[in-house]
Amino acid sequence: MAEQKYPISWVKNNFSIKIFCSIPNIATGILLRADKNIFVIDPGDGILRDLNNELSMKQILSVSDIIITHGHHDHVGGVWSLLTYLRVMHKTTPLAIHYPAGCIEIESIYNAFKKVYAATISYEISLKEIKNTKKSLRRRNVTIKPFPVVHKEYLHDTHKTRQVPAYGYKFTYKGIKICYGGDTAYCEELVRHAKGSDLAIIEAGHDEDTPDEMHMTKKEAVSIGKSAKDYFLVHVPE
Ligand SMILES: [Zn+2]
Ligand SMILES: [Zn+2]
Repeated sequence: MAEQKYPISWVKNNFSIKIFCSIPNIATGILLRADKNIFVIDPGDGILRDLNNELSMKQILSVSDIIITHGHHDHVGGVWSLLTYLRVMHKTTPLAIHYPAGCIEIESIYNAFKKVYAATISYEISLKEIKNTKKSLRRRNVTIKPFPVVHKEYLHDTHKTRQVPAYGYKFTYKGIKICYGGDTAYCEELVRHAKGSDLAIIEAGHDEDTPDEMHMTKKEAVSIGKSAKDYFLVHVPE
């Protein structure tokens, strides 16, 4: 399957994923549901609007986990408003935020949020920095396997780049596997995890044919996508 208009939905046996949006430098927003459990992945700008269109208030308040691939603004721009909204709506159940080790954007947002709202936060937030990508996490009824990906950014005023703390994730529910690479250049870890998955969500953020260390070309993305049973290309520049 190729790139499509948003939202993009996929479902198999009560395991579903909905990509509200995935546009480079603008916003990403993904909802993952496994039976009654609800997870949010890469809440970029617009996530509150999209969650409210999709879910009841009770369902939004039941979100247990936020999973972050990396700290670029188009993947975390909605975290502050989501945390605040949950406070305003009196969420009482705990929330965990999973993110790659060294992703200071998430730690900074969390620390600022705690500082501003210390006296009025109605729910417990736990930061879960993922240091060891060899281990899987179990959250509710879903197994989450992180894997490192290659995603770089330019340093200001130079042509030098640096690697960003960035993971892809493979989510498994009752044997059904969804692989989401986040933002990444072509890399073996993604090739390995996408292969044989029921669904692979692969970025094709590069608008030229020449590969680099930030995003994949469409050709690279398709070659990985085809190794899965089904795939979507996302994060294509508009
Ligand atoms: Zn991005
Ligand atoms: Zn990025």
